Amino acid sequence: MKLTFLGTGTSTGVPILGCDCEVCLSKDSRDKRLRCSSLLQIEGKNILIDCGPDFRQQALRSNLNTIDALLFTHPHSDHVGGIDDLRTIPYASFHWKIPEGVDLPRIPFYGLSFTNAAIKKMFYYCFPDSGNEEYKGMLPLLEPHEINSDGTPFEICGGISVTPVFATHGNLTTTGFRIGKLAYLTDFKTIEKKELDKLYDLDVLVLGMLRHNRLHASHLRLDEAMEIVNTVKPKQTFFVHMSHDIGLHDKSQDLMPDNCHLAYDGLELEI
Ligand SMILES: [Zn+2]
Ligand SMILES: [Zn+2]
Ligand SMILES: [Zn+2]
Repeated sequence: MKLTFLGTGTSTGVPILGCDCEVCLSKDSRDKRLRCSSLLQIEGKNILIDCGPDFRQQALRSNLNTIDALLFTHPHSDHVGGIDDLRTIPYASFHWKIPEGVDLPRIPFYGLSFTNAAIKKMFYYCFPDSGNEEYKGMLPLLEPHEINSDGTPFEICGGISVTPVFATHGNLTTTGFRIGKLAYLTDFKTIEKKELDKLYDLDVLVLGMLRHNRLHASHLRLDEAMEIVNTVKPKQTFFVHMSHDIGLHDKSQDLMPDNCHLAYDGLELEI
C-alpha cells in the first residue's frame, strides 16, 4: 500500500495568516502545511482519511479523481470542512463525460455515530433524509456508514479490513485506523491501554503531534507522543497535525530519533 500525506498541519495550517515567525516565512516547501489529511492507495483503491478545508487544493495537487472510501477521525472543521468539494469527485472519476444511463457512484464514508450525525447536521443539504428541502444543483453524493463503538473491525472497498482505534480528544472520541501494518491516529490527548494494545507490531505509525514545548489540553506534545512510540515501538513513526511551534522542518527533524520523522505535505511512503 502507498500512503501520501496530503496535509500535515494543525487546524490553522502553516503558515498562519498574519504570523511573521521564521517558520511561517520559511521558503522551504516542507514548512508549508495544509490541514491534516492522507490518501491511502491499496490494490488500486483510493482511501481518503479526513476531508478538511484544503481538500480541493490537495486533490488537485495529487491528481485525485476518484475516492473509493472515506474515513473520518472526528467532525472538527479542520477534518470535515472540505466535504462540499467532494461534489466534483463522481464526475471527475468519469473525466466529466458521463456515459448515458450511468448512475453516478456515491462515496461511502465511515465514522462513529456522533461523527456521522455532526456531518449530516453541518452538510444537511447533502442528505435527502435530513428533512430539509433537497437542493437541486450539484451535491456531494455520500453514503454514510457507522463504525461500531465496540471497536469491531469493518471492511471497506469490498474486502480491506480496518480496525478502529479510539482515543480521547477534549470532550470527544476520535477514531484512529489500523490497516495491516499501518496505523493512523491524530487529534487526541489520552488513549486507554486496550486501544493502545491495537498498535503493536506496526511498520508505520502516523501520530498527531502538535509541538515540542507548551502542553495542550487535547493534543499530544512531543514528549507525550514519544511515550506512545516508546511503548508500542513501531518500526517508523511519522508525525502530523503540527503547528508553526514545531520549528523549521530542517532543524526540528535533526532533533528526532532515527526512526521518527516529521511528515510533510506530499511525502509518499510504500508500506
Ligand atoms: Zn485537527
Ligand atoms: Zn508562525
Ligand atoms: Zn480535532
